[in-house]
Amino acid sequence: MSQEKPQGCAFLLQQVGSEEIFTPEKFSEDQRMFAETASTFMKKEVYPRVDEIEKGDFDLMVKVLRKSAEVGLTMIDIPEKYGGLGVDKTTSMIVTEYLSHYSGWATTYGAHTGIGTMPLLFFGNQEQKEKWLPKIASTEVIAAYALTEPSSGSDALAAKTRAELSEDGEHYILNGKKMWITNAGFADLFTVFAQVDGDKFTAFLVEGDREGFSTGAEEKKMGLKGSSTRELNLENVKIPKENLLGEIGKGHKIAFNILNIGRFKLGVGTLGGAKRTLMVATNYALEREQFGQPIAEFGAIRSKLAKIATRMYSLESMCYRVAGYMDRSLETLDSQADDYPAQVMEAIEEFAIEDSIMKVFGSETVDFAADEAVQIHGGLGYSAEYEVERIYRDTRINRIFEGTNEINRMLIPGMILKRTMKGQLNLFDQIQKVEMALAEGEKPTPPPQGDDPTLAFEKFVTEQSKKIGIYCANQAIQKHMADLREQQEILIDLADIISQLYVMDSTVSRTLQMIDEQGFEATEPQRAATLLALAEAFRVVENRGKRLLYNLADGDDLNAHLEAFEKLSFYSRIDEISLERTVADAVVARHGYPF
Ligand SMILES: Cc1cc2nc3c(=O)[nH]c(=O)nc-3n(C[C@H](O)[C@H](O)[C@H](O)COP(=O)(O)OP(=O)(O)OC[C@H]3O[C@@H](n4cnc5c(N)ncnc54)[C@H](O)[C@@H]3O)c2cc1C
Repeated sequence: MSQEKPQGCAFLLQQVGSEEIFTPEKFSEDQRMFAETASTFMKKEVYPRVDEIEKGDFDLMVKVLRKSAEVGLTMIDIPEKYGGLGVDKTTSMIVTEYLSHYSGWATTYGAHTGIGTMPLLFFGNQEQKEKWLPKIASTEVIAAYALTEPSSGSDALAAKTRAELSEDGEHYILNGKKMWITNAGFADLFTVFAQVDGDKFTAFLVEGDREGFSTGAEEKKMGLKGSSTRELNLENVKIPKENLLGEIGKGHKIAFNILNIGRFKLGVGTLGGAKRTLMVATNYALEREQFGQPIAEFGAIRSKLAKIATRMYSLESMCYRVAGYMDRSLETLDSQADDYPAQVMEAIEEFAIEDSIMKVFGSETVDFAADEAVQIHGGLGYSAEYEVERIYRDTRINRIFEGTNEINRMLIPGMILKRTMKGQLNLFDQIQKVEMALAEGEKPTPPPQGDDPTLAFEKFVTEQSKKIGIYCANQAIQKHMADLREQQEILIDLADIISQLYVMDSTVSRTLQMIDEQGFEATEPQRAATLLALAEAFRVVENRGKRLLYNLADGDDLNAHLEAFEKLSFYSRIDEISLERTVADAVVARHGYPF
């Protein structure tokens, strides 16, 4: 692997397959061991208790969380000097994936080890870290994160909770209400955001046993019944000034950076959820007989299994690619430097665009999987007796928390534009290349599909799609300039195009590497999934691209744009039905995710 510091959004700038990316095929022995530990923990400690936990037995959930500490699972991201294991980001992702096969547990674990711990880990001072992190690592202290309020969700900075310095300057007095706080029923330490003097958005560490601190009743939720969610009420809660986290008025830095990590983890968490869902659906399809045969033999059912597995293959390729980038970046840092945590934050932020893409694509993939899994179960999918009914209710939240999918979609082109304007991302070079390709006049012909270990056709589809995407993005920029941020529908279409370009680039890159390592014959299902992913991605690029052009121009201008679009476009003629049959065979043979 290259030793250069990787750059976010590289997939837009470089030719597909021009760099080696990290993939699950490259997991080390240690990483596989962590996967095994997490998987065994799920089988032995979590699954046997799901029914009780789902009934709201949170004492049992706390016991399970403490049990997970005994095998090191709550110590993953905490440095060794604070009682943790301080493993690399890829290992942390792997553990998150394997622990996400049951959402109630995954959310509890994630709130404690992720959003509950990360603010302290990255923004706490030495004393705060020494005081709390070892206890968090061992689960003596359980953590939670309190940002949302009844009147501020997506608009988190509009929080109304107030924090005033006491007259003697020794304490902060907090007043306000937080809503939807995961782990609130049993957490000991909360990262609470409040406005100092009414307008300086700031984070604080608040112990749950402080006078004036109370929680509401458990929320009656659609799903995630295994996860505690409550309101927090803060009435003159007095905390020592030492509990101020980071700087006064800089709470937004904490909130936004923690959201980036949350999205990255949620992306891989949805992959874990989708793996469980596909396994449950496939097993049911193999058992259930209608018209004298297992329903898994019907093309209608097999097509669903293939579609789910295909999206998962892309999601997996995207997630571990970013994990690999992050680890490469972190290797270039000096872990002894005073500003090491800030440098780590910066390295993670570099992939904020990919994080949002993974969050959106992952949450929609697992929802798609859950919806089709219910369908495969027929009437029984609607019965609370079956796991798939819970999965269906549980997965829906992923599109709402860690920034709704609308907010994340708008962030994707927004961040690209910002980086381009700051000169951090050379999109203008790409725009020029597209202009040159158009000026050359010839409409490119796709290379033949088939027995080609260099995947020339797949690379062609990816690169032409990038040109179409960049062409459309440029038209949107030209038309709206500074006002583009106000054009939400356009931003959302652009986000869908950009996300699918990342899908294509990551999926093709991974399969190319696999062909190199395992040979052409052995990779038939992966090649089929890759072509299927490309066909679906290209449909989105074409559809959103045209939607944009129809809005951005009319008359002769529109005709000129459509002509350019046609020049960049091509007839893909991918036989998706045959490819789906190949992928479905692999899913059925493996009783679940086959790659
Ligand atoms: C089970 C559960 C657990 C949670 N856990 C936590 C937790 O531990 N800690 C915590 O702090 N929070 C938590 N949350 C809160 C969660 O993060 C918020 O629900 C989420 O951020 C959305 O905020 P909201 O519910 O206020 O929706 P709103 O912000 O009111 O959004 C409503 C709709 O409007 C859209 N919208 C909002 N703003 C815009 C805009 N500018 N442009 C276009 N569309 C817009 C949204 O996309 C959405 O579709 C949890 C929520 C749930 C349900």
